[in-house]
Amino acid sequence: MQRVRILGTGGTIAGEAASETASRYRSAEIGVGPLIAAVPGVRSLAILHGEQFSQTGSQDMSDILWCSLAARINALFNAGEADGVVVTHGTDTAEETGYFLHLCIDSRNPVVLTGAMRPANSLSADGPLNLYNAVAVAADRNAHGRGVIVVINDDLHCARDVTKGNTTDVHAFVSPGPGLLGTASFGKVRYFRTPSRCHTADSEFLMDNMTRLPRVDILYAYTGMSTDCVRDSVSNGARGIVVAGLGNGNVPISIAHALADAAASGVIVVRSTRVGSGEVARGIEVDDDALGFVAADQLNPQKSRVLLQLCLAHGKDRSAIQDAFYRY
Ligand code: GLU
Repeated sequence: MQRVRILGTGGTIAGEAASETASRYRSAEIGVGPLIAAVPGVRSLAILHGEQFSQTGSQDMSDILWCSLAARINALFNAGEADGVVVTHGTDTAEETGYFLHLCIDSRNPVVLTGAMRPANSLSADGPLNLYNAVAVAADRNAHGRGVIVVINDDLHCARDVTKGNTTDVHAFVSPGPGLLGTASFGKVRYFRTPSRCHTADSEFLMDNMTRLPRVDILYAYTGMSTDCVRDSVSNGARGIVVAGLGNGNVPISIAHALADAAASGVIVVRSTRVGSGEVARGIEVDDDALGFVAADQLNPQKSRVLLQLCLAHGKDRSAIQDAFYRY
């Protein structure tokens, strides 16, 4: 049997409500041991070992926790202590942590993120089956080389492509564009595809010695947006700005000028989109060459921020960063 380490980080999967039907609850209350014990039959899938990595709602994840989580998983694989890893995680920022790990794990072994939309003691809690399926994927040799996989609601998503698309629905996660990586039904796993972009063992962003990431802000574009936020970001030390732009990464003309000034001062400006799906291409309505911008290609703003932080941590210049957005 494969050895699967389950790293608990908190979230709703470890949440507790006042009653089985209460919608109000506290996330990150239950330890990883009881979470595993609540999943019937899961120990028949793999040799399991639970480890409490942190206990937090994922809105409180940080670059410090990301770096130490990646270092912990790399250490487990390097020491040969696990064949696969499951991370239980809050759903709010699972897409960011997942993409960070997708770029920073130096192994082809499976790394799976899972979570839940309902607290552990709710009527029809979704956590136990999600954890069961996650362990099945982490113990599956066919999962090797597919990068970090988010397993939730019977679906397998590539960590690069997945995003939270609903605030409360059990079917909260979608992978717009590329679609699902596969499905899992009571531990029976099927794959539809393999990620085509660079990840994990092929990634250049291995950073076990790093404990912090450079500051990158996300600015949300809207009708009548003020340039104040651009100036605030720059004067407060942001080394990068990601714009959640309009449509194909557009911004009002005053913002374009303010961002061009930021870019001229050495801040890396990435144009992403607030739309939720589709690509942001160079030079459509915005002259990226003249203004000194990077186009996010397929990454949403929060994933663009992760990649930009890693690029800045590795000292890449603007053209190398644009190249990274096409390769990762
Ligand atoms: N806000 C909490 C978190 O992201 C709960 C959301 C969830 O896990 O579903 O950890």
